[in-house]
This record gives sequence, C-alpha cells and structure tokens, in this order.
Amino acid sequence: PTVMKEVVLELPKVKWADIGGLDHVRQLLHEVTVRPFKYPDLATKFGSTQSRKGLLLYGPPGCAKTLIAQAVATESNQNFLAVKGSELIKMYVGESERAIRDVFRRARSAKPCIIFFDEIDSIGKSRDKSHDSGLNVVTTLLNEMDGIETLKDVFVIGATNRPDILDSALIRVGRFDAHIHVGLPDVEARKQIWHIHTKTMPLTADVDLQVLAKKTDGHSGADIKGLCAVAVDAAMTEFEKDPTKQPEVKMCHFEQALSMHKPHITEEEAKRY
Ligand code: ATP
Repeated sequence: PTVMKEVVLELPKVKWADIGGLDHVRQLLHEVTVRPFKYPDLATKFGSTQSRKGLLLYGPPGCAKTLIAQAVATESNQNFLAVKGSELIKMYVGESERAIRDVFRRARSAKPCIIFFDEIDSIGKSRDKSHDSGLNVVTTLLNEMDGIETLKDVFVIGATNRPDILDSALIRVGRFDAHIHVGLPDVEARKQIWHIHTKTMPLTADVDLQVLAKKTDGHSGADIKGLCAVAVDAAMTEFEKDPTKQPEVKMCHFEQALSMHKPHITEEEAKRY
C-alpha cells in the first residue's frame, strides 16, 4: 500500500479558546458539524433530509483555517487526518488516486474522523490544464465523497487561499456545499490573538495589547504570532547583555518587532477575499 508521509492522523488538542476572533465562523461550524454530531437525531426531528459531507474554508493564508478544522475535531471528539493537496499532485500518475482512496480508507477505519484537505485548489487546478491525472484525482475525490454515508463516519473539510480557481465540480451540492469565509482579523480579534500568543510571557506593565492590536491592521494571526517570537528574541538579547535584570518582555520589544516586519499579505491579495 502507498504510505504517505504527508497524511497525518492525530487527535488534535486545539480548542476554540486557542483561536482569536472568528465568532461567526465558530457558530456556523457548530451548526454544520458539531451540533449534528452531538445530536444525531435532531435533523430528522426537524424534518431535514439533507446531510452534509464537507465544507470549504477559504481566505488569506495564516488566518487559522487549519486551527479551525482541528478545533472542530476536538470539540466533536473526532479523529483528524490532514492531507496537503500540493503533495498529492506531485505524485506519479495513478499514485495520487491511490493515495486519496487510501486516505478515505484510513479515515473510515478511524471513524469518526475529519479529513482536512489543505490547499485543495491544487487538486482542482490541475484539471483545468486538462491534465489527465488531474482529472482522475478530482474524480476520485468526488467518488469517495459521494460514497460517504453519514457525517458520523467521515467529514471532509477543505481549505484554500484561492476559491476563485477551484474546480466547480467540487463545490456542487452534496460535496463541499458549505463555504465559510475566514478573513483577516479585525481589531477586536487581533487583540484576542495578541492575548493568546503572549499569555505565557513575562510582560511588563507597559505592554498594551489594545495598542498592538490597533497597530497591526492587515496582519494575520500567523503574522502576530511571528511578531511575538521576534519580540521575545529582542527581550532575550537584552537579557543576555545584563543577566542580573528580570527576564521580561517590554512594549519596546514589540515596537522593535513591528518596525522590522510588514504583514505577509499584500493589499492586492487582501482585495481578493
Ligand atoms: P495557510 O493558508 O497558510 O495554511 P491557515 O489559514 O491554515 O494558513 P493556520 O495554519 O491555522 O492558518 O495558522 C497559522 C498559525 O497562526 C497558527 O498555528 C496560529 O498559531 C496562528 N494563528 C492564525 N490565526 C490565529 C487566530 N485567529 N488565533 C490564534 N492564532 C492564530
């Protein structure tokens, strides 16, 4: 059997509390995935005959799509299988299809399980180029999704930065039929993200997370996490020079980090979402 090192089965420990902002996304995901899982008979009681097999998270990089998928798995007590679309497409003809079937087989044997397809656009994209193997990869994925009997077994979450280039067959009803936008954080969300990533640090009293949140317009959660790492480095450099001082991170260290780094997403890119 094909062994894919890029397929990772894990029991994630990510909780909603680890994710700043995105309250509306959380509510939507609760309705689509967590609730049906907690109350399997509820939909029938309400006369609904639809069952969802997958949903798509789209938006700029570094804005917690992966974290969200992991939190859904944690909150609904499911296993989590992560696959990268770009790795699948790199394989030889026939191998990618086998790998996809293998992913679903592994998911079924670890049910209930969420399959997380990161960079799912790379699969659809290759079909546009009328690449035979690309076509087969999409078809295989669709067949596997059509074969999912209930949400209680396997649920597929796809993530993409490029919803515009996604294969239309993938987004038809019964497949990735719920599309959820995961955008750049607003000021309130950024404050929460700053809090999440600094809560274990020895901060001095002058560190003002509200100010940092205001100064980081256009930054993703991943950008903010990166700024925290740079600030800690600056604080450690200062400590090294005089180890008799308290080990602490000051506002000036964050300001130093801010002066050195720009957000990764350009304005041009941000407009796309
Ligand atoms: P990509 O499109 O690059 O795969 P993504 O949207 O899947 O990105 P993640 O991998 O979930 O983003 O985020 C990268 C890291 O940035 C996370 O591990 C987390 O530490 C941090 N991060 C991003 N957004 C948030 C957030 N809203 N709250 C807390 N941390 C965040």
